Amino acid sequence: MITEESIREALTQVKYPGFSRDIVAFGLVKEIKLVGADVEVTISMQTKDAKVPEQIFKDAQDALNKVEGIGVTRVNIDVKNPDAGVQGGGDAGGGGKSAIPGVKKVIAVGSGKGGVGKSTVSSNLAVALAKAGYKVGLCDCDLYGPSTAQMFGTDQQPMANEKDEIIPIQAHGVKLMSMSFLVNDSSPVIVRGPLATRYTQQFLRQVEWGELDYLILDLPPGTGDIQLTIVQTLALDGAVIVTTPQEVALIDARKAATMFAKVNVDILGVVENMSWFECAHGERYPIFGDGGGVREAERLKVPLLGQVPIDVHTRECADRGTPVALMDAGESVTSGAFGEIAERLNGILK
Ligand code: ADP
Repeated sequence: MITEESIREALTQVKYPGFSRDIVAFGLVKEIKLVGADVEVTISMQTKDAKVPEQIFKDAQDALNKVEGIGVTRVNIDVKNPDAGVQGGGDAGGGGKSAIPGVKKVIAVGSGKGGVGKSTVSSNLAVALAKAGYKVGLCDCDLYGPSTAQMFGTDQQPMANEKDEIIPIQAHGVKLMSMSFLVNDSSPVIVRGPLATRYTQQFLRQVEWGELDYLILDLPPGTGDIQLTIVQTLALDGAVIVTTPQEVALIDARKAATMFAKVNVDILGVVENMSWFECAHGERYPIFGDGGGVREAERLKVPLLGQVPIDVHTRECADRGTPVALMDAGESVTSGAFGEIAERLNGILK
């Protein structure tokens, strides 16, 4: 018997061109209509590349025709230009991506590798933007290693409003959402595949973000399911890549950059973290090498948004739950660096 489920199952055979994930996992199948054995499927996506819808159309037809006992099939492809969704600021409609109502700009912060300081940069960037007077939200999309509760020094549990949306936690002038508010330290989060996708969608859409100038998304490291869900289903204004100057980090940063490029997300710039260590005598030591972030920005033809030194104070501030960017720029070089990064980003997105 032909059911919606069996059709959905058949459509999992259709991969998004260039990715190993399928169109169902990406949430692109918007409607399945059945009349007896006749099937009408609507698939929507945002892309500027005409080859993508052509390929998906063909593959979806093939997949449906393989379903035993299927009658007449019809595949509707709804293509939206990603730029239209971003500029409109509102809901981009049935496309694969859509903007979050009330949120003016969404920026993803990604890295190829863990431990390069992506969460540190995301948190401090959020604080620096809030300090500059913007309304800012930070969504920690790392379901497996969330760090926001720690970095913002709060262990409150979020409440829901009457529409069943999660009310974000507020700390240091930033609205926060993170898995770290929902689980305690000792309970590992074991969600994978479709469930991880669903949680991520919930984090982004079923949260009462309200009016925001900026929503910063702290992506998990690498280029897995969650990152792809986000870049594919949300109209992002761009991405920031965090790397250390070290070659091993740069290799992975390139993979992250390739992922953003594949799905037409603009790379706004590179932040080089742990650029140097300055000793008490003012001498700088390039612990992880020199100029890697600069070269990577040049290679990607994007701005270097800033260089952040490695210092004990930044780590202590993070562990204490008071991001270093809260300090006056005169008191901390690192805070000053984050202020400049926020300013540059703002200039680019104006
Ligand atoms: P990621 O999100 O890339 O995994 P984190 O932001 O969690 O990395 O940083 C990893 C560790 O390094 C944390 O303990 C953080 O406090 C520390 N750290 C990050 N950037 C700096 C820096 N510029 N100076 C000192 N410590 C840093």
